[in-house]
This record gives sequence, C-alpha cells and structure tokens, in this order.
Amino acid sequence: MRFNRRTVLATGAAALTAPMVHAAGHGKPRVVVIGGGAGGATAARYIAKDSDGAIDVTLIEPTRKYYTCFFSNLYIGGFKEIDEIGHTYGKLASDYGINVIHDWAVGIDRDAKTVRLTGGQDIPYDRLVVSPGIDFVEGSVPGWDLSAQNTMPHAYKGGSQTQLLRAQIEAMPEGGRFIMVAPPNPYRCPPGPYERVSMVAWQLSRNNPTAKILVVDPKESFSKQALFEEGWQTHYGGMVERIGPDFGGQNVSVDAAAMTVDVDGSIEEGDVINVIPAMKAGQIAQDAGLTEGNWAPVNPTDMTSKMDENIHVLGDATSQGDMPKSGFSANSQAKVASNAIRGALTDARVFPAKYANTCWSLIAENDGVKVGATYEPTDEKIAKVDGFVSQTGEDAALRKATYEESEGWYAGITSDMFG
Ligand SMILES: Cc1cc2nc3c(=O)[nH]c(=O)nc-3n(C[C@H](O)[C@H](O)[C@H](O)COP(=O)(O)OP(=O)(O)OC[C@H]3O[C@@H](n4cnc5c(N)ncnc54)[C@H](O)[C@@H]3O)c2cc1C
Repeated sequence: MRFNRRTVLATGAAALTAPMVHAAGHGKPRVVVIGGGAGGATAARYIAKDSDGAIDVTLIEPTRKYYTCFFSNLYIGGFKEIDEIGHTYGKLASDYGINVIHDWAVGIDRDAKTVRLTGGQDIPYDRLVVSPGIDFVEGSVPGWDLSAQNTMPHAYKGGSQTQLLRAQIEAMPEGGRFIMVAPPNPYRCPPGPYERVSMVAWQLSRNNPTAKILVVDPKESFSKQALFEEGWQTHYGGMVERIGPDFGGQNVSVDAAAMTVDVDGSIEEGDVINVIPAMKAGQIAQDAGLTEGNWAPVNPTDMTSKMDENIHVLGDATSQGDMPKSGFSANSQAKVASNAIRGALTDARVFPAKYANTCWSLIAENDGVKVGATYEPTDEKIAKVDGFVSQTGEDAALRKATYEESEGWYAGITSDMFG
C-alpha cells in the first residue's frame, strides 16, 4: 500500500484522525532524487518549492559542482569559460531546504523503498526520482574503454573531460588532424557532436588554419544536417570531412596507444581523437531493474517507471517516445513528474502533461540555429505535436538573434534547475 493522503482518506473515519505515516515513520512524505543534473536538480527544486515544506526532499549527487554539457561545445570553441558553465547546489539547500547529499547512490531496494549510499546508509523514500544521465555501452567502439578516456576523451559528460578535449585541441601540432568517432542513435543531444565539430573548426580556423577534421559516423543522417553542412562550407571550407556508413563509418575501431582509427580497414592517424561511444541509461537505473535493453521505459503522462509506480525516471536515461535526449527535455519532464509527485503525496492539483524542447547550436560566431517541438502524452508514448527548425540561407541578423536567444535560454534554464 502507498501511504499518501488519498489512500489514508480512503481508508475511512478512523484513518482521518490518525497522523499520516510516511517512509520509515517520518511525519512528512519523503522524496529522494538520484542525480543532480538537468532532470534531477529541476525535480528537487520544483517539488521543494511548490510543496512549501510539505514534502521532505533529498538530492543525492556525487559532484559538488555540476558542469553542464549544454554550452560545453561553446567552451571548446572559446566562447565560454569553464566557470560560466559550472553550477553548485548551495541555493537548493539554503533557499529551498533540500537535503543535498554529495555521494553515489549504489543501490535501490524497491521493496523496502530505500536508496543505499556508498557508506552503507539507507535513505527511505515514498517516491523516488531517478535521473542519472548516461553511461557508455561497453565494446561499442572496439579498442576503446573507460581506461582510454584520458587519451581519447569522449567529453560527453561535463567537466574534466571537456577541459581535457579543449586542452588537446589547443596543443595540436600545426596542420594536425582532429578525428571524431560519432555515436549511433539514440544518444544524448542529437546535434551535440556536430555543434562540437563546428566549434573545433572555429578554434582551429583561428589558431591552426591548416589543421583538418575527420568525422567518422555510423549514421546515414543527423540532426540539422543541412544547416551544419552549409555552415561548415561557408565558414570552414574544406576543413571538415565526414565519412558516413556508406564508406565504412559504421565499421570503426581505435588503437589508443597508436592514436589511430581503423575505418573499415583504412588506418587513419589523429593528433586528437574524440571517441563518443554508444550510450545507455546511467548504471544505477540498470542495476535497479528499471531498464529494458539500454533505456528505462516510462509512462508518458507522469514519467513513472513502467517497472515501478513509486519511481519516476527522467531525462537521458529514459525511453519515452519522440523527445530528444536534451537538458531542455529533462527539465520539461522533471516539471511534469514533480507535479504528479505533489499530487500523489499532498493535495496538489495535477495538470495534464505537456512537454517542450528546443536545441540551439552555434556554428560560428553569432551563427546560431535551432530545432524544437512541443509534445503530449498518447497511450503509447510522448508524441511530437508541432515542430520548427531553422532554415538554410537565413540572414546574419536572424542567426545572431537565434544565438542571443540561446544565451537567454541558458541563463533561464540553469536558474530553473539550480535556483
Ligand atoms: C556536447 C553536448 C552538448 C549538449 N548541448 C545541449 C544543448 O544545447 N541543449 C540541451 O538541452 N541539451 C544539451 N545537451 C544534453 C544535456 O546535457 C543532457 O541531455 C542532460 O544533461 C540530461 O539530463 P539528465 O538529468 O538526464 O542527466 P545529467 O544532466 O547528466 O545528470 C545526471 C547526474 O546524475 C549523477 N549520477 C549518475 N549516477 C549517479 C548515482 N549512482 N548516484 C548519484 N548521482 C548519480 C551524475 O553525477 C550527474 O550529475 C548536450 C550534451 C552534450 C554532451
């Protein structure tokens, strides 16, 4: 039985006079959130803020400073400094009363409704939010594993990996070669690898103009392809070459010691090799039995796990339907889940779920493009309703305005997440 106000009221008059009992005999309902990234930080903040102290919220996140992946390509391009994309948890604790625990969740006991921390402590919950982001599929790029990440960085989790990649690009020899091994679908941030190519090209065209970029890609096509290809031609003519699956882009292995990429039998040498492997839901979601294949299926109306009605899974870790794996999507999903959780644990009114996403990308200075859509739940999935995308050939003023819009979005969404 779930202990919430509705079930207590439904049990009759005796229950009306009895105090509510929640997880581990606690007076208030308890929500535990695993992962203080785009989805988890938003969920923790919205539940705490909108329940006005009626729900006890604990956020479990190992890092003290979260570096966003969104805008990390702009850091690689030299448009942002690392401190501009780092966010701490102080306000979530001081302004919203969230109990922030800097530790790893190492297990979820779904029967006991507890989360285990590294030190062995068990944290009880009435509802659990799981937003652990992504991990990499072992063996998806033969020759690469996590022990190679300091030689061939993925830079697909924020922070030190992003800094390493930028440092490697800055240290490239004159006329050197940057190689990206792009990921197969589905993966975090569909335009992310191609915005990265643009930002690497921007850096190199200024500091190392005879350098070259090779992208090996297992996909036939990719997000905003026409816009990126137009931009690469206009700004960086001849610098970027892409090998798709027709020419071996899906048959790739690497040798980290030799700094080579084997593309369908052809050995390519690189000075910087950025390997972005195939992705799956963060390990804790897998370990807790919340996944089917690589991702955690969720109900489209409230982001509850299809495996457990007391757990909501958010963001990149989910399979939910049409939404891309983005920070904007995770933030939007977190608000729907927060509303549903407050409805289940207090008297809060629950509104019909609506979702939105926009992904902006920067191709060169002031050359911003975007793609976005709104979504609604159907019986099967979160389904796209209406979409929009920038067009090729747009004038410079519109592209500049699109970039400025993305700056406003970043400021707004990070304060929506971290307070
Ligand atoms: C290069 C790049 C560019 C991008 N650009 C954009 C963009 O322009 N716009 C956009 O909307 N999105 C963008 N994204 C995507 C965006 O970063 C992700 O979609 C978003 O961060 C997903 O949120 P999340 O909550 O699912 O995961 P995350 O934000 O990754 O958060 C997961 C958190 O969980 C923590 N965690 C993991 N396991 C545990 C555990 N066991 N215990 C406790 N904590 C745990 C991690 O430390 C992490 O902080 C980009 C991504 C990349 C890589």
